[in-house]
Amino acid sequence: MFGLVWVKMSETKKLEETIRKHSLMNAYLHKGKAQPQIVLGKVLGELPRYRGKAKEILEIVNGIVEEVTKLSVEEQKKLIMENWPWLLEEKPKPEKKVLPPLPNADKYPKVITRFSPNPDCALHLGSARAIVLSWKYAKMYNGEFYLRFEDTDPRYKRPQPEFYDLIREDLEWLGCKWDKEIIQSDRLEIYYEYAKKLLENGYAYVCTCKPENFREKILASKACSCRNQPSEIQLEKWEKMLGGNYNEGEAVVRIKTDLNHPNPAVRDWPALRIIDTEKFPHPRVGSKYRVWPLYNFSCGLDDHLLGITHIIRGKEHLTNELRQKYLYRYFGWEYPESIHYGRLKITGAVLSKSKIKLGIENGTYTDYGDPKLATLLALRRRGIKPQAIIEMMVEVGVKPVDVTLSWENLYAINRKIVDPEANRYFFVSNPIQLEISEVEKPYLVKLYLHPDYPERGFRTFQIQPKNGKVKFYVSNTDLQILQPQKVVRLMGLFNIQVKNVENGKVEAKFHSETYEEAKKFHASLIHYIPFGEGFPATIIMPDGSNVEGLVETSCKKLKPSEIVQFERFGFVRIEKINLKLIAYFSHK
Ligand SMILES: [Zn+2]
Repeated sequence: MFGLVWVKMSETKKLEETIRKHSLMNAYLHKGKAQPQIVLGKVLGELPRYRGKAKEILEIVNGIVEEVTKLSVEEQKKLIMENWPWLLEEKPKPEKKVLPPLPNADKYPKVITRFSPNPDCALHLGSARAIVLSWKYAKMYNGEFYLRFEDTDPRYKRPQPEFYDLIREDLEWLGCKWDKEIIQSDRLEIYYEYAKKLLENGYAYVCTCKPENFREKILASKACSCRNQPSEIQLEKWEKMLGGNYNEGEAVVRIKTDLNHPNPAVRDWPALRIIDTEKFPHPRVGSKYRVWPLYNFSCGLDDHLLGITHIIRGKEHLTNELRQKYLYRYFGWEYPESIHYGRLKITGAVLSKSKIKLGIENGTYTDYGDPKLATLLALRRRGIKPQAIIEMMVEVGVKPVDVTLSWENLYAINRKIVDPEANRYFFVSNPIQLEISEVEKPYLVKLYLHPDYPERGFRTFQIQPKNGKVKFYVSNTDLQILQPQKVVRLMGLFNIQVKNVENGKVEAKFHSETYEEAKKFHASLIHYIPFGEGFPATIIMPDGSNVEGLVETSCKKLKPSEIVQFERFGFVRIEKINLKLIAYFSHK
Protein backbone atom coordinates (compact mmCIF):
# COMPACT_ATOMS: atom_id res chain seq x y z
CA MET A 1 0.00 0.00 0.00
CA PHE A 2 2.74 2.40 1.01
CA GLY A 3 4.73 1.41 -2.09
CA LEU A 4 1.83 2.21 -4.39
CA VAL A 5 1.35 5.67 -2.94
CA TRP A 6 5.05 6.29 -3.22
CA VAL A 7 5.03 5.33 -6.88
CA LYS A 8 2.08 7.62 -7.53
CA MET A 9 3.72 10.53 -5.77
CA SER A 10 6.97 10.13 -7.59
CA GLU A 11 5.06 9.88 -10.89
CA THR A 12 3.33 13.20 -10.23
CA LYS A 13 6.60 14.73 -9.23
CA LYS A 14 8.25 13.49 -12.36
CA LEU A 15 5.45 14.88 -14.49
CA GLU A 16 5.70 18.27 -12.81
CA GLU A 17 9.47 18.31 -13.17
CA THR A 18 9.13 17.52 -16.86
CA ILE A 19 6.62 20.31 -17.31
CA ARG A 20 8.85 22.71 -15.39
CA LYS A 21 11.86 21.79 -17.51
CA HIS A 22 10.04 22.36 -20.81
CA SER A 23 8.35 25.53 -19.55
CA LEU A 24 11.69 27.01 -18.51
CA MET A 25 13.36 26.01 -21.75
CA ASN A 26 10.52 27.32 -23.89
CA ALA A 27 10.43 30.57 -21.95
CA TYR A 28 14.20 30.96 -22.03
CA LEU A 29 14.24 30.51 -25.82
CA HIS A 30 11.39 32.97 -26.34
CA LYS A 31 12.32 36.10 -24.41
CA GLY A 32 10.99 34.76 -21.13
CA LYS A 33 7.50 33.78 -22.30
CA ALA A 34 6.47 30.14 -22.63
CA GLN A 35 3.62 28.88 -24.82
CA PRO A 36 1.51 26.33 -22.89
CA GLN A 37 0.46 24.41 -26.05
CA ILE A 38 4.07 23.99 -27.14
CA VAL A 39 5.15 22.96 -23.65
CA LEU A 40 2.31 20.43 -23.65
CA GLY A 41 3.52 19.01 -26.96
CA LYS A 42 7.05 18.59 -25.61
CA VAL A 43 5.81 16.98 -22.42
CA LEU A 44 3.60 14.50 -24.23
CA GLY A 45 6.46 13.76 -26.61
CA GLU A 46 8.67 12.87 -23.65
CA LEU A 47 5.96 11.09 -21.63
CA PRO A 48 3.67 9.57 -24.23
CA ARG A 49 1.69 7.66 -21.60
CA TYR A 50 -0.11 10.91 -20.74
CA ARG A 51 -1.33 11.45 -24.29
CA GLY A 52 -4.89 10.42 -23.45
CA LYS A 53 -4.96 13.02 -20.68
CA ALA A 54 -3.87 16.09 -22.61
CA LYS A 55 -6.66 18.20 -21.14
CA GLU A 56 -5.73 17.51 -17.50
CA ILE A 57 -2.03 17.93 -18.24
CA LEU A 58 -2.66 21.25 -19.94
CA GLU A 59 -4.14 22.59 -16.70
CA ILE A 60 -0.98 21.73 -14.80
CA VAL A 61 1.08 23.21 -17.65
CA ASN A 62 -0.86 26.47 -17.47
CA GLY A 63 -0.11 26.76 -13.76
CA ILE A 64 3.60 26.08 -14.12
CA VAL A 65 3.97 28.31 -17.19
CA GLU A 66 2.44 31.14 -15.20
CA GLU A 67 5.01 30.66 -12.41
CA VAL A 68 7.88 30.44 -14.86
CA THR A 69 6.83 33.54 -16.80
CA LYS A 70 7.11 35.61 -13.63
CA LEU A 71 10.85 34.94 -13.52
CA SER A 72 13.36 37.01 -15.44
CA VAL A 73 15.19 35.40 -18.35
CA GLU A 74 18.35 35.38 -16.19
CA GLU A 75 16.57 33.52 -13.41
CA GLN A 76 15.13 31.06 -15.92
CA LYS A 77 18.57 30.39 -17.30
CA LYS A 78 19.99 29.93 -13.82
CA LEU A 79 17.35 27.32 -12.95
CA ILE A 80 18.06 25.41 -16.16
CA MET A 81 21.82 25.57 -15.47
CA GLU A 82 21.27 24.15 -11.99
CA ASN A 83 18.95 21.34 -12.94
CA TRP A 84 19.34 20.47 -16.60
CA PRO A 85 22.66 22.01 -17.71
CA TRP A 86 22.89 19.76 -20.78
CA LEU A 87 19.89 21.51 -22.33
CA LEU A 88 21.97 24.64 -22.77
CA GLU A 89 24.85 22.81 -24.39
CA GLU A 90 25.17 22.76 -28.13
CA LYS A 91 23.49 19.62 -29.36
CA PRO A 92 25.84 17.25 -31.16
CA LYS A 93 24.63 16.55 -34.71
CA PRO A 94 23.04 13.12 -35.06
CA GLU A 95 25.50 10.61 -36.35
CA LYS A 96 25.20 10.28 -40.10
CA LYS A 97 26.48 7.46 -42.22
CA VAL A 98 29.80 8.73 -43.51
CA LEU A 99 31.17 7.64 -46.86
CA PRO A 100 34.60 5.96 -46.93
CA PRO A 101 37.42 8.40 -47.70
CA LEU A 102 38.27 9.16 -51.32
CA PRO A 103 41.57 7.77 -52.58
CA ASN A 104 44.45 10.28 -52.72
CA ALA A 105 42.26 13.23 -51.87
CA ASP A 106 45.20 15.15 -50.39
CA LYS A 107 47.14 14.86 -53.65
CA TYR A 108 44.90 17.55 -55.14
CA PRO A 109 44.52 21.16 -54.02
CA LYS A 110 40.75 20.76 -54.40
CA VAL A 111 38.54 17.73 -54.94
CA ILE A 112 36.38 18.16 -58.04
CA THR A 113 33.68 15.67 -58.99
CA ARG A 114 31.10 15.66 -61.75
CA PHE A 115 27.78 14.28 -62.77
CA SER A 116 27.55 13.95 -66.54
CA PRO A 117 24.18 12.95 -67.93
CA ASN A 118 23.08 12.80 -71.54
CA PRO A 119 19.94 14.96 -71.61
CA ASP A 120 18.02 12.37 -73.65
CA CYS A 121 15.76 11.12 -70.84
CA ALA A 122 14.54 11.97 -67.35
CA LEU A 123 16.78 10.99 -64.44
CA HIS A 124 15.75 8.03 -62.31
CA LEU A 125 16.65 6.47 -58.99
CA GLY A 126 19.67 4.78 -60.60
CA SER A 127 21.08 8.14 -61.76
CA ALA A 128 20.55 9.49 -58.26
CA ARG A 129 23.42 7.37 -57.01
CA ALA A 130 26.02 9.04 -59.23
CA ILE A 131 24.60 12.47 -58.40
CA VAL A 132 24.36 12.03 -54.66
CA LEU A 133 27.75 10.35 -54.21
CA SER A 134 29.64 12.80 -56.45
CA TRP A 135 27.99 15.77 -54.77
CA LYS A 136 28.39 14.39 -51.26
CA TYR A 137 32.08 13.70 -51.76
CA ALA A 138 32.66 17.20 -53.10
CA LYS A 139 30.98 18.56 -49.96
CA MET A 140 32.91 16.22 -47.67
CA TYR A 141 36.20 17.58 -49.01
CA ASN A 142 35.09 21.17 -49.38
CA GLY A 143 35.54 20.75 -53.10
CA GLU A 144 33.40 21.42 -56.16
CA PHE A 145 30.74 19.49 -58.01
CA TYR A 146 30.15 20.02 -61.73
CA LEU A 147 27.17 19.26 -63.90
CA ARG A 148 28.28 18.32 -67.40
CA PHE A 149 25.74 17.67 -70.14
CA GLU A 150 27.12 15.04 -72.50
CA ASP A 151 25.01 15.88 -75.51
CA THR A 152 27.22 14.95 -78.44
CA ASP A 153 25.06 12.37 -80.15
CA PRO A 154 22.36 14.17 -82.14
CA ARG A 155 21.35 10.97 -83.93
CA TYR A 156 21.26 7.80 -81.82
CA LYS A 157 21.05 9.17 -78.28
CA ARG A 158 19.48 12.42 -79.28
CA PRO A 159 19.39 15.07 -76.54
CA GLN A 160 16.04 16.82 -76.06
CA PRO A 161 15.71 20.45 -74.94
CA GLU A 162 13.26 19.74 -72.10
CA PHE A 163 15.64 17.33 -70.37
CA TYR A 164 18.38 19.93 -69.84
CA ASP A 165 15.89 21.81 -67.68
CA LEU A 166 14.36 18.78 -66.05
CA ILE A 167 17.81 17.52 -65.02
CA ARG A 168 18.64 20.92 -63.52
CA GLU A 169 15.30 20.86 -61.67
CA ASP A 170 15.95 17.34 -60.38
CA LEU A 171 19.37 18.31 -59.04
CA GLU A 172 17.98 21.41 -57.41
CA TRP A 173 15.19 19.37 -55.86
CA LEU A 174 17.71 16.88 -54.51
CA GLY A 175 19.61 19.81 -53.05
CA CYS A 176 22.75 18.83 -54.98
CA LYS A 177 23.83 22.27 -56.10
CA TRP A 178 26.49 22.34 -58.78
CA ASP A 179 29.34 24.83 -58.83
CA LYS A 180 29.80 24.85 -62.59
CA GLU A 181 27.77 23.77 -65.59
CA ILE A 182 29.38 22.53 -68.80
CA ILE A 183 27.57 21.65 -72.01
CA GLN A 184 29.64 19.54 -74.37
CA SER A 185 27.88 20.74 -77.51
CA ASP A 186 29.50 24.14 -76.76
CA ARG A 187 32.95 22.55 -76.85
CA LEU A 188 33.22 20.96 -80.30
CA GLU A 189 36.09 23.22 -81.41
CA ILE A 190 38.07 22.07 -78.37
CA TYR A 191 37.56 18.41 -79.28
CA TYR A 192 38.61 19.17 -82.87
CA GLU A 193 41.79 20.81 -81.65
CA TYR A 194 42.79 17.74 -79.62
CA ALA A 195 41.82 15.38 -82.45
CA LYS A 196 44.13 17.28 -84.76
CA LYS A 197 47.01 17.05 -82.27
CA LEU A 198 46.59 13.29 -82.07
CA LEU A 199 46.48 12.94 -85.86
CA GLU A 200 49.58 15.11 -86.26
CA ASN A 201 51.52 13.03 -83.77
CA GLY A 202 50.54 9.64 -85.11
CA TYR A 203 48.33 8.67 -82.17
CA ALA A 204 45.15 8.58 -84.21
CA TYR A 205 44.06 8.04 -87.81
CA VAL A 206 41.11 8.69 -90.07
CA CYS A 207 39.71 5.33 -91.03
CA THR A 208 37.74 5.23 -94.26
CA CYS A 209 37.31 1.46 -94.37
CA LYS A 210 33.90 -0.12 -94.64
CA PRO A 211 32.86 -0.95 -91.05
CA GLU A 212 32.64 -4.71 -91.74
CA ASN A 213 36.15 -4.77 -93.26
CA PHE A 214 37.57 -2.88 -90.32
CA ARG A 215 35.86 -5.20 -87.86
CA GLU A 216 37.29 -8.28 -89.53
CA LYS A 217 40.82 -6.85 -89.40
CA ILE A 218 40.66 -5.65 -85.80
CA LEU A 219 39.29 -8.97 -84.54
CA ALA A 220 42.33 -10.58 -86.13
CA SER A 221 44.59 -7.95 -84.44
CA LYS A 222 45.54 -6.56 -87.86
CA ALA A 223 45.92 -2.91 -88.89
CA CYS A 224 43.72 -1.55 -91.67
CA SER A 225 45.40 0.30 -94.55
CA CYS A 226 44.49 3.72 -93.10
CA ARG A 227 46.38 3.19 -89.83
CA ASN A 228 49.89 3.59 -91.15
CA GLN A 229 49.36 6.43 -93.59
CA PRO A 230 51.57 9.47 -92.83
CA SER A 231 50.23 12.32 -90.79
CA GLU A 232 49.93 14.65 -93.81
CA ILE A 233 47.41 12.25 -95.32
CA GLN A 234 45.62 11.95 -91.97
CA LEU A 235 45.30 15.72 -91.68
CA GLU A 236 44.10 15.95 -95.26
CA LYS A 237 41.41 13.36 -94.57
CA TRP A 238 40.53 15.15 -91.33
CA GLU A 239 40.00 18.41 -93.22
CA LYS A 240 37.80 16.52 -95.65
CA MET A 241 35.78 15.15 -92.75
CA LEU A 242 35.24 18.65 -91.37
CA GLY A 243 34.62 20.05 -94.86
CA GLY A 244 31.75 17.72 -95.60
CA ASN A 245 33.48 15.58 -98.22
CA TYR A 246 32.48 12.34 -96.54
CA ASN A 247 29.01 11.11 -95.82
CA GLU A 248 27.80 9.54 -92.61
CA GLY A 249 29.65 6.29 -91.95
CA GLU A 250 32.36 6.93 -94.54
CA ALA A 251 35.08 8.22 -92.19
CA VAL A 252 35.84 7.94 -88.52
CA VAL A 253 38.77 9.09 -86.36
CA ARG A 254 40.23 6.17 -84.41
CA ILE A 255 42.62 6.25 -81.48
CA LYS A 256 45.60 3.95 -81.88
CA THR A 257 45.77 1.41 -79.09
CA ASP A 258 47.32 -2.03 -78.73
CA LEU A 259 46.07 -4.15 -81.62
CA ASN A 260 46.64 -7.19 -79.42
CA HIS A 261 44.67 -5.83 -76.50
CA PRO A 262 42.84 -8.80 -74.91
CA ASN A 263 39.56 -6.89 -75.13
CA PRO A 264 38.78 -6.29 -78.84
CA ALA A 265 36.43 -3.46 -77.83
CA VAL A 266 39.46 -1.48 -76.67
CA ARG A 267 41.43 -1.92 -79.92
CA ASP A 268 41.60 1.29 -81.98
CA TRP A 269 38.35 2.68 -80.63
CA PRO A 270 36.39 5.33 -82.55
CA ALA A 271 36.75 8.90 -81.29
CA LEU A 272 34.89 11.10 -83.77
CA ARG A 273 32.36 10.38 -86.50
CA ILE A 274 30.17 12.11 -89.03
CA ILE A 275 26.49 12.73 -88.34
CA ASP A 276 24.26 14.24 -91.01
CA THR A 277 22.94 17.13 -88.96
CA GLU A 278 20.89 18.39 -91.91
CA LYS A 279 18.75 15.30 -91.29
CA PHE A 280 19.38 15.09 -87.55
CA PRO A 281 19.95 18.65 -86.30
CA HIS A 282 21.27 19.04 -82.79
CA PRO A 283 18.68 20.68 -80.48
CA ARG A 284 21.17 23.36 -79.39
CA VAL A 285 23.60 23.90 -82.27
CA GLY A 286 21.47 22.72 -85.18
CA SER A 287 23.46 21.66 -88.23
CA LYS A 288 26.50 23.80 -87.47
CA TYR A 289 28.71 20.71 -86.97
CA ARG A 290 28.92 17.43 -88.85
CA VAL A 291 31.79 15.80 -86.96
CA TRP A 292 30.84 14.67 -83.48
CA PRO A 293 32.95 13.14 -80.71
CA LEU A 294 31.93 9.77 -79.36
CA TYR A 295 31.48 9.27 -75.65
CA ASN A 296 34.99 8.18 -74.68
CA PHE A 297 36.69 10.97 -76.55
CA SER A 298 34.75 13.95 -75.20
CA CYS A 299 34.35 12.46 -71.71
CA GLY A 300 38.01 11.43 -71.50
CA LEU A 301 39.25 14.86 -72.61
CA ASP A 302 36.85 16.83 -70.46
CA ASP A 303 37.66 15.02 -67.25
CA HIS A 304 41.20 16.26 -67.63
CA LEU A 305 40.50 19.67 -69.17
CA LEU A 306 37.96 20.55 -66.47
CA GLY A 307 40.23 19.39 -63.67
CA ILE A 308 38.04 16.56 -62.42
CA THR A 309 40.01 14.83 -59.66
CA HIS A 310 37.64 12.01 -58.76
CA ILE A 311 35.27 10.13 -61.03
CA ILE A 312 32.54 8.19 -59.24
CA ARG A 313 30.62 5.90 -61.57
CA GLY A 314 29.28 2.41 -62.19
CA LYS A 315 31.58 -0.49 -62.95
CA GLU A 316 30.11 -0.73 -66.46
CA HIS A 317 32.56 2.08 -67.21
CA LEU A 318 35.67 0.00 -66.52
CA THR A 319 36.26 -0.69 -70.22
CA ASN A 320 35.76 2.99 -71.01
CA GLU A 321 38.51 3.80 -68.57
CA LEU A 322 40.86 1.42 -70.40
CA ARG A 323 40.06 3.22 -73.66
CA GLN A 324 40.40 6.71 -72.26
CA LYS A 325 43.74 5.99 -70.63
CA TYR A 326 45.33 5.91 -74.11
CA LEU A 327 44.45 9.58 -74.53
CA TYR A 328 46.03 10.38 -71.18
CA ARG A 329 49.18 8.52 -72.16
CA TYR A 330 49.46 10.37 -75.50
CA PHE A 331 48.98 13.78 -73.94
CA GLY A 332 51.14 13.01 -70.93
CA TRP A 333 48.27 13.56 -68.49
CA GLU A 334 47.52 11.74 -65.30
CA TYR A 335 44.21 9.90 -65.15
CA PRO A 336 41.87 11.13 -62.36
CA GLU A 337 41.10 8.85 -59.44
CA SER A 338 38.20 6.64 -60.35
CA ILE A 339 35.80 4.75 -58.11
CA HIS A 340 33.53 2.17 -59.68
CA TYR A 341 30.49 1.01 -57.78
CA GLY A 342 28.40 -2.11 -58.44
CA ARG A 343 25.01 -2.29 -60.05
CA LEU A 344 21.94 -1.12 -58.19
CA LYS A 345 18.68 -2.93 -58.74
CA ILE A 346 15.38 -1.92 -57.22
CA THR A 347 12.89 -4.74 -57.38
CA GLY A 348 9.93 -3.71 -59.48
CA ALA A 349 11.45 -0.45 -60.73
CA VAL A 350 12.35 0.12 -64.38
CA LEU A 351 15.80 1.72 -64.35
CA SER A 352 16.53 1.55 -68.04
CA LYS A 353 16.33 4.69 -70.14
CA SER A 354 15.39 2.80 -73.27
CA LYS A 355 12.55 0.97 -71.53
CA ILE A 356 11.28 4.21 -70.00
CA LYS A 357 11.35 5.95 -73.40
CA LEU A 358 9.69 3.04 -75.15
CA GLY A 359 6.96 2.89 -72.49
CA ILE A 360 6.21 6.56 -73.01
CA GLU A 361 6.07 6.14 -76.79
CA ASN A 362 3.68 3.19 -76.58
CA GLY A 363 1.50 4.72 -73.87
CA THR A 364 2.43 2.38 -71.00
CA TYR A 365 3.37 5.56 -69.12
CA THR A 366 1.52 8.85 -69.35
CA ASP A 367 4.69 10.93 -69.13
CA TYR A 368 8.08 10.99 -67.39
CA GLY A 369 6.35 11.64 -64.07
CA ASP A 370 4.05 8.61 -64.34
CA PRO A 371 3.69 7.18 -60.82
CA LYS A 372 4.62 3.73 -62.12
CA LEU A 373 8.11 5.02 -62.93
CA ALA A 374 11.11 5.48 -60.67
CA THR A 375 12.09 8.78 -62.28
CA LEU A 376 12.97 11.56 -59.88
CA LEU A 377 10.03 13.48 -61.33
CA ALA A 378 7.63 10.65 -60.45
CA LEU A 379 9.10 10.27 -56.97
CA ARG A 380 8.77 13.99 -56.40
CA ARG A 381 5.10 13.88 -57.42
CA ARG A 382 4.51 10.97 -55.10
CA GLY A 383 5.85 12.76 -52.06
CA ILE A 384 9.18 11.00 -51.72
CA LYS A 385 11.48 13.48 -50.01
CA PRO A 386 14.88 14.27 -51.50
CA GLN A 387 16.45 13.54 -48.10
CA ALA A 388 15.12 10.00 -48.34
CA ILE A 389 16.87 9.47 -51.67
CA ILE A 390 20.09 11.01 -50.38
CA GLU A 391 20.00 8.86 -47.27
CA MET A 392 19.38 5.72 -49.28
CA MET A 393 22.22 6.44 -51.72
CA VAL A 394 24.69 7.26 -48.96
CA GLU A 395 23.64 4.00 -47.31
CA VAL A 396 24.27 2.07 -50.54
CA GLY A 397 27.54 3.98 -50.94
CA VAL A 398 30.32 3.08 -53.36
CA LYS A 399 30.46 -0.66 -52.74
CA PRO A 400 31.71 -2.53 -55.80
CA VAL A 401 29.29 -5.41 -55.17
CA ASP A 402 25.86 -5.39 -56.76
CA VAL A 403 23.02 -4.26 -54.51
CA THR A 404 19.34 -5.11 -54.78
CA LEU A 405 16.89 -2.91 -52.92
CA SER A 406 13.12 -2.79 -52.81
CA TRP A 407 10.67 0.07 -52.88
CA GLU A 408 9.99 -0.75 -49.25
CA ASN A 409 13.57 0.27 -48.36
CA LEU A 410 12.93 3.71 -49.78
CA TYR A 411 9.47 3.96 -48.22
CA ALA A 412 10.81 3.08 -44.77
CA ILE A 413 13.32 5.95 -44.93
CA ASN A 414 10.73 8.34 -46.33
CA ARG A 415 8.15 7.38 -43.70
CA LYS A 416 10.54 8.39 -40.93
CA ILE A 417 10.98 11.79 -42.57
CA VAL A 418 7.35 12.57 -43.43
CA ASP A 419 5.60 11.09 -40.41
CA PRO A 420 6.36 13.94 -38.01
CA GLU A 421 5.42 16.62 -40.53
CA ALA A 422 2.34 15.03 -42.11
CA ASN A 423 -0.91 16.04 -40.44
CA ARG A 424 -3.65 13.46 -40.36
CA TYR A 425 -7.06 13.50 -41.98
CA PHE A 426 -9.86 11.14 -42.89
CA PHE A 427 -10.23 9.91 -46.44
CA VAL A 428 -13.08 7.50 -47.08
CA SER A 429 -12.45 5.48 -50.21
CA ASN A 430 -15.41 4.20 -52.23
CA PRO A 431 -17.88 5.48 -49.62
CA ILE A 432 -20.84 3.47 -48.38
CA GLN A 433 -23.55 4.62 -46.00
CA LEU A 434 -23.56 3.90 -42.28
CA GLU A 435 -26.72 4.81 -40.35
CA ILE A 436 -26.60 4.81 -36.55
CA SER A 437 -29.69 4.90 -34.36
CA GLU A 438 -30.20 5.51 -30.63
CA VAL A 439 -27.82 8.45 -30.54
CA GLU A 440 -29.24 10.46 -27.67
CA LYS A 441 -27.27 13.71 -27.84
CA PRO A 442 -25.07 15.82 -30.11
CA TYR A 443 -21.31 15.27 -30.11
CA LEU A 444 -18.35 17.43 -30.96
CA VAL A 445 -15.51 15.29 -32.32
CA LYS A 446 -12.03 16.75 -31.78
CA LEU A 447 -9.22 14.94 -33.51
CA TYR A 448 -5.59 15.95 -33.27
CA LEU A 449 -3.96 17.03 -36.52
CA HIS A 450 -1.02 15.03 -35.20
CA PRO A 451 -1.23 13.17 -31.88
CA ASP A 452 2.50 13.71 -31.21
CA TYR A 453 2.17 17.45 -31.73
CA PRO A 454 -0.99 18.56 -29.91
CA GLU A 455 0.09 22.16 -30.30
CA ARG A 456 -0.88 21.94 -33.98
CA GLY A 457 -4.52 21.81 -32.96
CA PHE A 458 -7.55 19.83 -34.02
CA ARG A 459 -10.00 19.03 -36.76
CA THR A 460 -13.58 18.97 -35.55
CA PHE A 461 -16.87 17.40 -36.61
CA GLN A 462 -20.31 18.37 -35.29
CA ILE A 463 -22.53 15.33 -34.87
CA GLN A 464 -26.18 16.35 -34.63
CA PRO A 465 -28.62 13.41 -34.42
CA LYS A 466 -32.09 13.74 -35.96
CA ASN A 467 -34.68 11.62 -34.16
CA GLY A 468 -31.77 9.71 -32.63
CA LYS A 469 -30.21 8.95 -36.01
CA VAL A 470 -26.90 10.00 -37.59
CA LYS A 471 -25.49 9.09 -40.98
CA PHE A 472 -21.87 8.67 -41.97
CA TYR A 473 -19.83 7.66 -44.96
CA VAL A 474 -17.39 4.84 -44.34
CA SER A 475 -15.05 3.07 -46.68
CA ASN A 476 -16.38 -0.01 -48.43
CA THR A 477 -13.19 -1.85 -47.47
CA ASP A 478 -14.47 -1.62 -43.89
CA LEU A 479 -17.38 -3.90 -44.76
CA GLN A 480 -15.14 -6.73 -43.58
CA ILE A 481 -15.13 -5.14 -40.12
CA LEU A 482 -18.78 -4.04 -40.06
CA GLN A 483 -20.26 -7.49 -39.55
CA PRO A 484 -23.67 -7.88 -37.79
CA GLN A 485 -23.43 -7.91 -33.97
CA LYS A 486 -19.85 -6.58 -34.02
CA VAL A 487 -18.92 -3.65 -31.82
CA VAL A 488 -16.86 -1.09 -33.74
CA ARG A 489 -15.39 2.22 -32.57
CA LEU A 490 -15.69 5.37 -34.67
CA MET A 491 -12.34 7.07 -34.06
CA GLY A 492 -12.57 9.84 -31.49
CA LEU A 493 -16.36 9.50 -31.22
CA PHE A 494 -18.20 6.50 -29.76
CA ASN A 495 -18.77 2.78 -30.15
CA ILE A 496 -21.50 1.26 -32.26
CA GLN A 497 -22.96 -2.19 -32.70
CA VAL A 498 -23.75 -3.32 -36.22
CA LYS A 499 -27.31 -4.48 -36.76
CA ASN A 500 -27.62 -5.18 -40.40
CA VAL A 501 -25.69 -4.90 -43.69
CA GLU A 502 -27.68 -4.80 -46.91
CA ASN A 503 -26.82 -3.65 -50.43
CA GLY A 504 -23.66 -2.00 -49.19
CA LYS A 505 -25.62 -0.03 -46.57
CA VAL A 506 -24.82 -0.57 -42.92
CA GLU A 507 -27.25 -0.11 -40.04
CA ALA A 508 -25.95 0.10 -36.50
CA LYS A 509 -26.96 1.41 -33.10
CA PHE A 510 -25.15 3.43 -30.48
CA HIS A 511 -23.35 1.08 -28.08
CA SER A 512 -21.18 3.02 -25.64
CA GLU A 513 -18.92 6.01 -25.40
CA THR A 514 -15.54 5.22 -23.96
CA TYR A 515 -12.39 3.83 -25.45
CA GLU A 516 -12.10 1.43 -22.49
CA GLU A 517 -15.46 -0.06 -23.44
CA ALA A 518 -14.27 -0.47 -27.03
CA LYS A 519 -11.18 -2.32 -25.80
CA LYS A 520 -13.36 -4.69 -23.79
CA PHE A 521 -15.14 -5.71 -26.98
CA HIS A 522 -11.92 -5.81 -29.03
CA ALA A 523 -13.59 -3.26 -31.26
CA SER A 524 -11.78 -2.25 -34.43
CA LEU A 525 -11.31 1.47 -34.98
CA ILE A 526 -12.68 2.89 -38.18
CA HIS A 527 -12.67 6.37 -39.68
CA TYR A 528 -15.63 8.08 -41.29
CA ILE A 529 -17.04 11.28 -42.66
CA PRO A 530 -20.37 12.58 -41.35
CA PHE A 531 -23.09 13.25 -43.92
CA GLY A 532 -22.93 16.87 -45.00
CA GLU A 533 -19.16 16.97 -44.40
CA GLY A 534 -16.36 16.37 -46.86
CA PHE A 535 -15.70 16.78 -50.56
CA PRO A 536 -14.58 14.44 -53.35
CA ALA A 537 -11.02 13.25 -53.80
CA THR A 538 -9.07 11.16 -56.26
CA ILE A 539 -5.90 9.42 -55.16
CA ILE A 540 -3.54 8.33 -57.92
CA MET A 541 -1.90 5.09 -56.89
CA PRO A 542 1.64 3.87 -57.74
CA ASP A 543 0.23 1.34 -60.20
CA GLY A 544 -1.49 4.15 -62.10
CA SER A 545 -5.00 3.31 -60.89
CA ASN A 546 -7.26 5.84 -59.17
CA VAL A 547 -9.04 5.50 -55.85
CA GLU A 548 -12.11 7.72 -55.55
CA GLY A 549 -13.58 8.86 -52.27
CA LEU A 550 -14.34 11.69 -49.88
CA VAL A 551 -12.02 13.74 -47.69
CA GLU A 552 -13.00 15.81 -44.71
CA THR A 553 -13.76 19.49 -45.34
CA SER A 554 -10.72 20.70 -43.36
CA CYS A 555 -8.58 19.38 -46.25
CA LYS A 556 -9.72 22.44 -48.24
CA LYS A 557 -6.98 24.34 -46.42
CA LEU A 558 -4.21 22.09 -47.70
CA LYS A 559 -1.76 23.37 -50.29
CA PRO A 560 -0.34 21.64 -53.36
CA SER A 561 2.87 19.71 -52.55
CA GLU A 562 1.84 19.28 -48.94
CA ILE A 563 2.23 15.75 -47.60
CA VAL A 564 -0.47 14.43 -45.31
CA GLN A 565 -1.45 11.09 -43.87
CA PHE A 566 -4.91 9.77 -44.58
CA GLU A 567 -5.57 7.65 -41.53
CA ARG A 568 -5.70 3.93 -42.17
CA PHE A 569 -4.90 4.61 -45.84
CA GLY A 570 -1.40 6.02 -46.15
CA PHE A 571 0.70 9.08 -46.93
CA VAL A 572 -0.20 11.18 -49.95
CA ARG A 573 1.16 14.29 -51.63
CA ILE A 574 -1.43 16.87 -52.58
CA GLU A 575 -1.33 17.66 -56.29
CA LYS A 576 -4.19 20.17 -56.45
CA ILE A 577 -7.36 21.24 -54.71
CA ASN A 578 -10.37 23.04 -56.05
CA LEU A 579 -13.79 21.39 -56.02
CA LYS A 580 -11.95 18.11 -55.83
CA LEU A 581 -8.75 17.07 -54.11
CA ILE A 582 -6.20 15.28 -56.31
CA ALA A 583 -3.30 13.55 -54.59
CA TYR A 584 -0.60 11.01 -55.33
CA PHE A 585 -0.20 8.06 -53.01
CA SER A 586 3.28 7.83 -51.43
CA HIS A 587 3.16 4.69 -49.32
CA LYS A 588 1.50 3.18 -46.28
ZN1 LIG B 1 40.66 1.88 -92.14
